[in-house]
Amino acid sequence: MDIPSLTIARVREGLLSRRFSAAELAAEALRYAQAENPKTNAYLHFSPERALAAAKRVDEQIARGEDPGPLAGVPVAVKDVILTKGVRTTCGSKLLANYIPPYDATAVVRIEQAGGVIVGKTNCDEFAMGSSTENSAFGPVRNPVAPDRVPGGSSGGSAAAVAQGTAVVALGSDTGGSIRQPASFCGVVGVTPTYGRVSRYGLTAFASSLDHIGPFSRSVKDSATLLRVIAGRDPRDSTSADAPVPDYTALLDRNVKGLKLGLPREYLRELMSETGDLLSRGVGVLQSLGCQIREISLPSTNYAIACYYIICTAEASSNLARYDGVRYTFRSEMSDTLSDMYRNTRGEGFGAECKRRIMLGTYVLSAGYYDAYYLKAQKVRALIARDFANAFQEVDAIVAPVSPFPAFKLGEKVDDPLAMYLSDIYTITGDLAGIPCMSVPCGNTAGGLPVGMQILTRHFDETTMFRLADAFEEAQRG
Ligand code: GLN
Repeated sequence: MDIPSLTIARVREGLLSRRFSAAELAAEALRYAQAENPKTNAYLHFSPERALAAAKRVDEQIARGEDPGPLAGVPVAVKDVILTKGVRTTCGSKLLANYIPPYDATAVVRIEQAGGVIVGKTNCDEFAMGSSTENSAFGPVRNPVAPDRVPGGSSGGSAAAVAQGTAVVALGSDTGGSIRQPASFCGVVGVTPTYGRVSRYGLTAFASSLDHIGPFSRSVKDSATLLRVIAGRDPRDSTSADAPVPDYTALLDRNVKGLKLGLPREYLRELMSETGDLLSRGVGVLQSLGCQIREISLPSTNYAIACYYIICTAEASSNLARYDGVRYTFRSEMSDTLSDMYRNTRGEGFGAECKRRIMLGTYVLSAGYYDAYYLKAQKVRALIARDFANAFQEVDAIVAPVSPFPAFKLGEKVDDPLAMYLSDIYTITGDLAGIPCMSVPCGNTAGGLPVGMQILTRHFDETTMFRLADAFEEAQRG
């Protein structure tokens, strides 16, 4: 069993032809992931009991002649901001170092109902705030492609696990780019679905109006399969959409001739030259497949970072208020009064980035500043969404870079939050507009660093996004 070469289809074929059982695969995948983990620190903990129990259910279904589900036996890694009943969920924070959730996220339930085997929980920036996974309280993740570099963030552990081959697919979360940017840095596929496509129930809230759960995989098809499993209305999340979920993989027809694609001129300004060259080459590949490319304008792009960091910090300051030392979390020992206990718990528990955001968010929401900052940012958000809506009158999809630069060195940007925030300049807009967007590998720099291409489509049109990405992936391979 060559674990890193597995795909969802290969696992299925191996199980149904009885070459291996799901229990054997789970045991081997766990062994392999545990042995490889010291190289990257991608996983914070493993869930062997849960994995073996899930695998056993799959084996029993196969023995009874039942369909074991679209993810039968597939080793899955889950970002540690997504709740797993009975399995520690830390959100990369010291505050939750020992937190054992009493329930599962809906996405986790659906993965297991589809036969998926959750092998472990992956490292991430604390409460998903960051672009490098260096804000984890449990040490950074190393990029499997270049161990002296970051894997991106905040879902760096999930991207690294899939790139390293210790999981076939993984779940991440994306608020401002945390799936697409690490996917680009690690050379894997990463998908941020339409806002509301996947239930957020059991996803630890960072900025609720921007948070998405989405897949990582080594092929477009595997992300499409995983998204179909986790998507769809969930009565436990009132923002989850009641839209039909297409059979994405059945619609991957490799025929993208005539599709109209827009290349936003505002997204080409901050690009490093090699990243720009790879993107141009990628656009050439799409042209050779018969797509029509035209330049478009998304004029409000310049305001996206400022707008995002007002809205996300405002929402975060409210969401993170629950970590007070009374519920869930670790509690500071050194306090005599209740208010000291709150203060000390948060002071000792939160890392620097979370503190920065809580303070900024409290400020933009405070009386006297609310109109000037928060309300203004909401209006700018509407303009950004309108830019996309206008563009989609003319084009079927937008093609863009994911990040201005490839994976940077560990430590390179930790002391400069503004330089770090720039990582997300091209990804934040998709979250603000709530449209589906993904990163698909687009080649490597001369130094061997992966670079992703971003594809964005209309609300709920993941189908066009996957069709385009799949045709592109196939053309790159050929
Ligand atoms: N890097 C961005 C931030 O720090 C995005 C994070 C995310 O998408 N969770 O907020």
